[in-house]
Amino acid sequence: MVAIVRENKEMALVACDEPPGTNRRPEVAQSATPRAAVWADVPDGDWNSWRWQLSHRLNSLEELSTIIHLTPDEITGIAAKDRFRLDITPYFASLIDPDDPNCPIRRQVIPTARELDGFDSMMADSLAEDAHSPVPGLVHRYPDRVLMLVTTQCASYCRYCTRARIVGDPGAQFARTDYDHQIDYIASHPEIRDVLLSGGDPLVLPQKLLEHILQRLRAIEHLEIIRIGSRVPVFMPQRIDESLVNMLRQFHPLWMNIHFNHAKEITPEVSRALAMLADAGIPLGAQTVLLAGINDCPNVMKDLVHKLVKNRVRPYYLYQCDLVEGAGHFRTPISKGIEIMEALRGHTSGYAIPTYVVDAPGGGGKIPVGPQYLISQTPGKAVLRNYEGFITTYTEPDTYTKHDPTTCPSCQKHASAERGQQGVAGLLQGNAMTIEPAGFHETHLRGRPEDGDVIGVNAIGFVHKHAEHH
Ligand SMILES: *Cc1c(COP(=O)(O)O)cnc(C)c1O
Repeated sequence: MVAIVRENKEMALVACDEPPGTNRRPEVAQSATPRAAVWADVPDGDWNSWRWQLSHRLNSLEELSTIIHLTPDEITGIAAKDRFRLDITPYFASLIDPDDPNCPIRRQVIPTARELDGFDSMMADSLAEDAHSPVPGLVHRYPDRVLMLVTTQCASYCRYCTRARIVGDPGAQFARTDYDHQIDYIASHPEIRDVLLSGGDPLVLPQKLLEHILQRLRAIEHLEIIRIGSRVPVFMPQRIDESLVNMLRQFHPLWMNIHFNHAKEITPEVSRALAMLADAGIPLGAQTVLLAGINDCPNVMKDLVHKLVKNRVRPYYLYQCDLVEGAGHFRTPISKGIEIMEALRGHTSGYAIPTYVVDAPGGGGKIPVGPQYLISQTPGKAVLRNYEGFITTYTEPDTYTKHDPTTCPSCQKHASAERGQQGVAGLLQGNAMTIEPAGFHETHLRGRPEDGDVIGVNAIGFVHKHAEHH
């Protein structure tokens, strides 16, 4: 509580019952998430223990039917052989509306028969992560950063899991030697300045093991930042305790991205966990998957991003649902994501707006998509529209002294970086004239033997060494 007190004609802010700086903190003690009736008699000490939550996860038809009224569709999904692993913490299960089959919490974790349906372009590894792994569990897709998979286990399992091919199998765990190989690879590649721990969920690893991995990563001099991707703060906020947070804060700069899909996931327990992480100086981001029937609505998304920002979590990515087995019924048209972005930009705080991306099937990485704001252009003038439909012109400068890369220290420093991955930025810098599809050159030779005079082909035709007119 804050009271404004007049004292010696000066205004002073006085926090009545709490130390300064804590008075705006989301409160948890007074209002905890109501538990489902079956757990009413569980002692608080057990309920608030992450170990108890992990060891009492629900995974059978019998257990689930004690907390929700299962539909025939759900019963088929749960009973199906070879379905993706099912496990839900009692805490997260308590957020499910037992009577609403469309409950957004329920749809994320309870299988349905539709999970068994195939669809066009369905793939086991739609992001081609395995093809981009120099060593098991390490994905080196971008020039300067790697994804390091450290476990196959999670606190609960999302039905649309993009890594269902490796996640959830209790028999398929990473071994010490896998970590050794991953860390050796990072240590021997000085271009890697950012490592992203994922899985599975890194925060279900034994704390000592996670600490050991973080220590070894921090010992690599060229590694600038470490990130953790997790859903533990949502599935099992009890895991975020003093001991974990004090361990993590030793490894700054350490960032964390947390997977959130719906405002209902942000309970008082989760707010407390987020406050602890943020207070430990860990910048928090949110990753959200656009899911049919769960958050495919601009207003549902607005509620989520507003609640995230209130909890000091910056919406980072909104993902188009991957072309992954089991997730077909969660997919939306891409236009749904664009509609959501249109409803956010300008309408609400920039801090609350994620980047909408399609993670390219086949391993192209994240491709940002969104509404168009640049309407037209002529030399010297650009026509732009804003979120209200107001159309304006920006007059470009008549004279512009071009940047000189030969005298720019940053250009010198980065000149030889991103070998083979400069892409379109490389075309702009004049490092190449074209980017060609596989077999382009051969196709355009049309069976003709290689001509020594020809140095290449482009979209227009053959490029000859000597003259333009042949
Ligand atoms: C998402 C991702 C990253 C990180 O990408 P950012 O845009 O830097 O957050 C790195 N590696 C892989 C394989 C990824 O999928």
